[in-house]
Amino acid sequence: MTDTHTTAQRPLTLIGLGDMGTALARTWLAAGHPLTVWNRTPAKAGALAAEGASVAAGPAAAVAANTLVVVCLLDDESVGSALEGIDLTGKDLVNLTTGTPAEARARAAWAEDRGARYLDGGIMATPTMIGVPEAGGYVFHSGSRALFETHRAVLEVPAGSRFVGEDPGHAALHDVALLSAMWGMFAGISQAYALTEGEVAPKDLAPLLSEWLGAMGFFVGNAAERLTSRDFTSGVVSGLAMQITGAGTMLRTAEEQGVGTELIAPYVDLLRRRLAADPAAHGGEDTTGAILMLKR
Ligand code: NDP
Repeated sequence: MTDTHTTAQRPLTLIGLGDMGTALARTWLAAGHPLTVWNRTPAKAGALAAEGASVAAGPAAAVAANTLVVVCLLDDESVGSALEGIDLTGKDLVNLTTGTPAEARARAAWAEDRGARYLDGGIMATPTMIGVPEAGGYVFHSGSRALFETHRAVLEVPAGSRFVGEDPGHAALHDVALLSAMWGMFAGISQAYALTEGEVAPKDLAPLLSEWLGAMGFFVGNAAERLTSRDFTSGVVSGLAMQITGAGTMLRTAEEQGVGTELIAPYVDLLRRRLAADPAAHGGEDTTGAILMLKR
């Protein structure tokens, strides 16, 4: 049968209608894509059926309905259990479930063993940012570039995309790298609010914090240059020895304020270990060299 659908109308299947899956589904329906959905808890498909989705009776029927099958489930284990024993021959499987790089590589091999082409994805957006281009969310993709290009227009309906290579683990690696930085930032913000709680109104600290974090964003590019050149000392004006003294003030202030140090003490320990390893060599470094101490 000839495929008479234009790119804008290409049909697809979506497995997983949690908060994220539901947000994705709505954008494809709104853009006119015939959409087949399946969710373990059938009730979550009700509203989408009313919006035009076809609800499959089970995951096998959902997979059978279309060549392009997008999966957005809780974790890698749930992908394995939802697709257990299902024929994937000739399918184009796009897995937008968050997982580790190793899980993505194993899932790619698993899908290919079952006759499918595989593309992994890591969603850098909350459900409220899906279908809202100005919100700036996007999806990292990695795996088959040909598969990505084949389905790119459909995959970019919910959010923009960034293809980060043929290694299927690299979408997850980029995703988790950015999330790790975000968690560190959340930890720092939490510490700042805890220190000032009861003395400085949060609404007064908020603009100062935002401005300071923005100003400190220079470290991202600076660290990249130093990691590449392995030059951790040229032009350093805030050396490690000074920084560690400053960190002591930060820890003592937390004690004075009756606030725990568990969020920031591990990073201070890391910097101290870097300095202790060779005080003469590392005392004049910035904090970038300590990144090497993290590698196991
Ligand atoms: P939800 O917790 O809202 O939904 C989880 C989904 O997984 C549901 O459809 C659930 O089915 C299904 N599920 C869980 N276990 C199984 C199983 N064993 N078999 C079949 N289905 C299963 O999560 P989200 O929709 O928010 O997240 C989905 C993915 O998107 C996750 O990997 C998440 O990390 C990622 N993501 C989410 C973001 C967010 O802000 N929400 C942001 C970026 C990425 P049921 O309804 O039956 O429980």
